[in-house]
Amino acid sequence: MDFTFDAEAEKFRAEVRAFIQKNWDPKDFNTDLNVFGYDFDNPEYRDHAHKFQEKLIDQGYWTMSWPEEYGGQAAPLTKQVVYSEELAYAGAPQGTPGGNITGAIMFHGNDDIKSEFLGKMAKNEINWAQGFSEPNAGTDLASLTTRGVEDGDDYVVNGQKIWSSGSHYADWYHVLVRTDPEAPKHRGITYLMMQLKDQDGTQMPGITLRPLYDMFGRRRWNEVFMDDVRVPKRQIIGEVNRGWYAAMTTLNFERAGGTGARNVAVLENFVSLAKRLKFNGEPILNDPLVRHKLADLRIRVETGRMLSLRLIWLQSKGEVPQTESLIANFYGSTMNKFHFWPTLAHILGPYRALLQGEKRSPDNGMYGTNYALSMVTGYAGGGGILLSPNLIAQRGLGLPR
Ligand SMILES: Cc1cc2nc3c(=O)[nH]c(=O)nc-3n(C[C@H](O)[C@H](O)[C@H](O)COP(=O)(O)OP(=O)(O)OC[C@H]3O[C@@H](n4cnc5c(N)ncnc54)[C@H](O)[C@@H]3O)c2cc1C
Repeated sequence: MDFTFDAEAEKFRAEVRAFIQKNWDPKDFNTDLNVFGYDFDNPEYRDHAHKFQEKLIDQGYWTMSWPEEYGGQAAPLTKQVVYSEELAYAGAPQGTPGGNITGAIMFHGNDDIKSEFLGKMAKNEINWAQGFSEPNAGTDLASLTTRGVEDGDDYVVNGQKIWSSGSHYADWYHVLVRTDPEAPKHRGITYLMMQLKDQDGTQMPGITLRPLYDMFGRRRWNEVFMDDVRVPKRQIIGEVNRGWYAAMTTLNFERAGGTGARNVAVLENFVSLAKRLKFNGEPILNDPLVRHKLADLRIRVETGRMLSLRLIWLQSKGEVPQTESLIANFYGSTMNKFHFWPTLAHILGPYRALLQGEKRSPDNGMYGTNYALSMVTGYAGGGGILLSPNLIAQRGLGLPR
């Protein structure tokens, strides 16, 4: 079996790699850290990333994967994979229009929504936030209670969302609201696009954000309170009370994941650290236990990549590989959470507790910080890390409930 990409894709890889080397300078920002990067809440980093993304737009990479009817190039999947692998390997910012909502707009948006929003997203002019989770609706998302009540040409929304990543930077919010409380819980939900800020950056009437911080003190999320917020009906994605189905498109995009190219780069960095770092006068890489652990991780990373490539191969044949997608996602999440970061952190022993900027912190604290952050793996993207084995068993293996 031949696991390489075709010559055209590899030629493209060289082109993208050269482009990134020339145009992406991580500066002192710590882009190695997972879940949006450690500097997610640093306005200077955001500005720096935005400038790089402008270069991706000029180069024609930004919407390369979009269908031609929306101004994209309908690039083959192999090219898309190579592109995202190279960006991930380099620790560069996201290389496609943000907001997991893109697919939902393309599949479920009306023509006005498509032309207005996709047009702006192609120029990276919209910052989206996602308002799905509520205090009592996380893994069981369909329990959401934020209400949308019809009033003339609008819906009037009241309720509270939680864990809305980066919503303090967002201009627009894609949000699920309950529009028919009498219907079965999956059937009474509508998917809306809600403006969070006006052109001047002022919060829209009825919206209140309350910050939530991560364990390193960075403002990552907000609770979002909506009091009589008016949303025009033309901003519905899909159909009234059928929002659940459009929202599943968004979640499928969010959970799609990558091939683990970033982990390959992190592991390479760790190996070079292990050559420099000494214990009792010997580089720790000479310790057979350390070598075995690193070799084991490299194999795990490669296994994850193979599972992702299998998925992509099935997609390229026009299939919709749901079970394979669950398997690749489950493998990637559990690998990161239970093997990758814990192993690197444990090799460093107590030094993993030293964080960015602290004297003697290995590679500026990235392994210990990522180890701590990796605890969230499996929650972001709608939870379900513990539920997916059930789905794999039922849908993939045909086992009874
Ligand atoms: C980094 C990060 C970013 C996020 N960004 C956003 C965002 O932008 N927008 C947004 O809307 N949300 C966001 N979230 C929230 C995320 O979607 C929720 O955390 C997720 O849906 C899980 O919900 P919960 O936190 O309420 O946990 P719960 O649903 O309360 O689950 C808690 C635990 O119970 C387990 N559990 C739950 N139900 C079952 C069951 N039936 N059987 C067995 N075990 C079960 C879960 O697996 C989990 O271990 C983000 C979360 C994180 C960590």
